[in-house]
Amino acid sequence: LLKIEGLSKSYHDLEVLKGVDLTVNKGEVIAIIGPSGTGKSTLLRCINFLEEPTAGIVSIGEDKVESLPQHKKQRTFHPDITKLRTKVGMVFQHFNLWPHMSVLENVMEGPTLIKKKPKAEALEQAKYLLDLVKMGDKADQYPLSLSGGQQQRVAIARALAMEPELMLFDEVTSALDPQLVGEVLEAMTNLAKKGMTMLVVTHEMRFAENVATRVIFMNEGKIAEEGTPEKVFHNPDNPATKSFLSFSK
Ligand code: ATP
Ligand code: MG
Repeated sequence: LLKIEGLSKSYHDLEVLKGVDLTVNKGEVIAIIGPSGTGKSTLLRCINFLEEPTAGIVSIGEDKVESLPQHKKQRTFHPDITKLRTKVGMVFQHFNLWPHMSVLENVMEGPTLIKKKPKAEALEQAKYLLDLVKMGDKADQYPLSLSGGQQQRVAIARALAMEPELMLFDEVTSALDPQLVGEVLEAMTNLAKKGMTMLVVTHEMRFAENVATRVIFMNEGKIAEEGTPEKVFHNPDNPATKSFLSFSK
């Protein structure tokens, strides 16, 4: 479903991603772990071109976007980027719901405005998705009257309303009070069980171990280790993985 080849990203002199190769199959749940500043967020942001890679190719299904080295690049709009973005949903650490819209309106906005879905259809879908994240009973409330965990679950429903093929999660529980983390992880676990393809940057090692089909350890802009949760957590090859895991227990 997703193929990343030779993905590099630099900010001026700082080389953040140093040639990442990654293939993700449909239905895989990939946990991305690793020290701060190693490029985990940058990797996710390059997948839907919120950041423009310095070099590399990102393909989702049939759609392929290639980033040429800067000096060769023609600064023209790349139509494939828009197409590629419609296939990818993303949820961030800090929820970005519209405060002036109800929960229901937040979830319906993308489908009606961007996908031009009939209102009745969008409404039915929004109700289904809010039930899925256990927020059905809060549909008419406004985001500011909700807890952080509840807001984050609405943000997940809102991303799902665009019917993405791939969901990206960037530390979606890091800003939450500990007692609210579980309900968001539960919503993500349910989504994984439904077969959604997911890339999840997380510090929640228990989630990574129990829900992910594959774990990727990123270090210094590269994939330093990858494998089953069993292997990466209990029998890592790379000393850097071991040392990272011993700190994050
Ligand atoms: P964390 O676990 O703390 O979220 P991360 O692995 O997600 O870290 P990134 O956010 O991808 O790390 O950042 C990688 C490096 O790129 C950092 O050194 C960061 O300072 C740098 N960086 C990220 N975004 C920019 C930007 N827009 N301009 C310049 N440097 C940036
Ligand atoms: Mg990050």
